[in-house]
Amino acid sequence: MDRTRRSFLKGLAIAGTSAAAAAVPVVSEASQARHAPEDAVGMLYDTTRCIGCKACVVACHEANDLPPDNRTDALHDQPQALNDRTKNIIKLYKEEGRRSYMKQQCMHCIDPACAGACMIGALQKREHGIVTWDPNRCIGCRYCQVACPYSIPKFEWESTNPRIVKCELCNHRIKDGGIPACCEVCPREAVVYGKYTELLAEAKRRQAEHPGRYVDKIYGEHDGGGTQVLYLSHVPFEKLGLPTLGEKSVPSLNRTIQHGIYKGMIAPAALYAVMGGVMLRNRKKNRDEEGGDA
Ligand code: SF4
Ligand code: SF4
Ligand code: SF4
Repeated sequence: MDRTRRSFLKGLAIAGTSAAAAAVPVVSEASQARHAPEDAVGMLYDTTRCIGCKACVVACHEANDLPPDNRTDALHDQPQALNDRTKNIIKLYKEEGRRSYMKQQCMHCIDPACAGACMIGALQKREHGIVTWDPNRCIGCRYCQVACPYSIPKFEWESTNPRIVKCELCNHRIKDGGIPACCEVCPREAVVYGKYTELLAEAKRRQAEHPGRYVDKIYGEHDGGGTQVLYLSHVPFEKLGLPTLGEKSVPSLNRTIQHGIYKGMIAPAALYAVMGGVMLRNRKKNRDEEGGDA
């Protein structure tokens, strides 16, 4: 192989590698696990303290100016599940002599799938890591509903100007120096509000202080990449309807897949660069030959 030809092929290889590198995003950054922000706040719910009084459900309705859900019983505000008028619900789990109450609301995920699915950033993690919804951005596509592993966001189907309804940790109260309404009214401190790191420490303290009382896990510490709402329970979490998720968040799995796709593009990108180089060489050769003939 003569020297000119060798240099030419080397040049193509470098061009191919550079083109491929340009096609690959910053991979390590893309697949990194997210952490709760330093100023993160959240809630800790403890099933062993909850008496099912539903004061938190009523307080949530009032604090968030939600209309009563009397669709199953015209006389009473009686939500059966989270819906477009209910951001917080208490359910009863009962099985063979074992029972537990279960509070359900947005988990304020550390890496929220709803925000990852929202193409225009209507749902985002904002101050204190609270996941809030922006009415000025939402186009009503409802991708967030499909993406949420906890089935939290609800849509106002009956409204002419529908909103996405979900717990926003009473951020309007927090901004004014208050605390979430559900935590304020709970007579048993079954649900408490605080700094995320302090809630996690408190959950661990309770587990250490009462060996055997709780399932040996704090739900939300790692599940689905972690959530700013944490749970302690005396019955298995899956019985309470909390999904079994790995330690990775849904968006991080998506990022890994995207990364794989981009990585898979290295070979085609390199091939494309080589083909481009060959075409350039042929064109130059043709030009030289045409010039030679002239
Ligand atoms: S629980 Fe669902 S709605 Fe709430 S932050 Fe997580 S993904 Fe979003
Ligand atoms: S934090 Fe506020 S919006 Fe969320 S469940 Fe509690 S009362 Fe309802
Ligand atoms: S107010 Fe407290 S004790 Fe009553 S149902 Fe809600 S979390 Fe349970």
